[in-house]
Amino acid sequence: MLNSTSDEPAQELEIIKQQRRRVRDYAKVGLQLLAQRIVIYTVAVGLAGFYYDWLIAGAFYAIVVACEVYDLFVFRRIMKLRVWRSADLSRAMSHIYLGTVFSSFAVALFAISFALQQDPESGHFMPVFMLISASIFAAMNNHQFLLVLGIRLTIYVSAILLIPIYDIWITSAPITSEVWLHFFTVIFVLAFLVELARSFMGGYSEAQKSRSRLEEEHERTKAAFLAKNQFLSTISHELRTPLTSIKGALALVDSGALGELPEKARGPIKIADRNTHRLANLVDDLLLLQKADGGKLELTEEVFDLGELVIDATELFRPYAESAKVGIELKVKRDEFWVRGDQKKIVQVVTNLLSNAAKFSNGRGEILISVQRKGGHICLRVTDHGIGIPEGADRKVFEEFGQVDSTDTRKFQGTGLGLNISKRIIEAHGGHIYYESVLGKGSTFYVEMLDTARYP
Ligand code: ADP
Repeated sequence: MLNSTSDEPAQELEIIKQQRRRVRDYAKVGLQLLAQRIVIYTVAVGLAGFYYDWLIAGAFYAIVVACEVYDLFVFRRIMKLRVWRSADLSRAMSHIYLGTVFSSFAVALFAISFALQQDPESGHFMPVFMLISASIFAAMNNHQFLLVLGIRLTIYVSAILLIPIYDIWITSAPITSEVWLHFFTVIFVLAFLVELARSFMGGYSEAQKSRSRLEEEHERTKAAFLAKNQFLSTISHELRTPLTSIKGALALVDSGALGELPEKARGPIKIADRNTHRLANLVDDLLLLQKADGGKLELTEEVFDLGELVIDATELFRPYAESAKVGIELKVKRDEFWVRGDQKKIVQVVTNLLSNAAKFSNGRGEILISVQRKGGHICLRVTDHGIGIPEGADRKVFEEFGQVDSTDTRKFQGTGLGLNISKRIIEAHGGHIYYESVLGKGSTFYVEMLDTARYP
């Protein structure tokens, strides 16, 4: 987390954030490659000691190990730091620069000291190759900071150039000699090195930019999601209270407690009552969704008879099925199938499945409802012989506000919330909801819950 005062310009904050990310990337790579660097140094020292001088090789080893220990402390502090101030950033950078200068000089001096022991005509294969390898390693891994890479490459490249220049100087060789050829070859290779470093730096900067873009996008999405939730929550709460009183008033009028209702008024009152219930259900669904999104889907759990619950829900549902002109066949036993869960919420799931089955039956065939044992689960099936669902629509069917047919000419009423809520409820119970369907022939929805007789 970045510590900032509210009047700090946003741009400056962004720069510090990016700089901090680069420092952490640098330290992370530094720590990851520690073992690799130690192995490389050990091999180089072994070769140099065996073929030239153990004393110089040993001294070099001691210096680079000291540099590594220093870097190790710096990198670990960087990785541990959670709250960053500008001063922490400058301090970390100073340590990084210091470590870079020390270790680069150590490597360069090591190579030069061995080159000096060789014959100028030899081409200094080993020291020059070591320096080139060190430069490639730096280009590959130190591209987070132009200055750090610049310091390293300047020191290595100076050493690489110094070796043939020194040879030319002490031998006063003519331009046609091998020594000059070595010098030109070195310049040729250096051009590749610079290109390599440029390409790694470019790649890293691009990656940084797309990372920032992604983060911005993520922040915007999060803000939009919060605003949507806030909006839905406010609307739902504001609607709930007036709806409750409208429902109450309509029920009172309908009951005749306020006097006999004229025949002509019965129809409109019935419609108003039905629509108020629909609206109230929608508000309840929205509130439940808010709770589930906030991870607060509370369940009042108890062991209950799923068979009985399904039978009761179906009986209550029968008038609606009749008005939708579909029959119901119930193959459910009481006192057989016990599950643990929140009864009210399971009723909501069952009612939703029944209402979908009736609605999408499109006045065709019967709805078949059964409860059976399946493995360690109790399985509720609701089958209809209606319009069916096309293949590959699973996501649409279960997503929030998802409807397979969402065109303006859509024939069936609904919000696309029922199955999304059902899925959340069933999954909160550790259960599973899915369907099988053939377009034009019908669908079967399955709900599986743990069998408490098997898993009390
Ligand atoms: P809705 O309020 O639209 O019914 P649901 O979340 O309950 O919302 O269902 C989502 C969509 O899944 C429906 O709009 C419909 O396209 C499809 N669907 C659900 N149940 C059935 C079914 N039994 N037969 C055909 N399509 C169904």
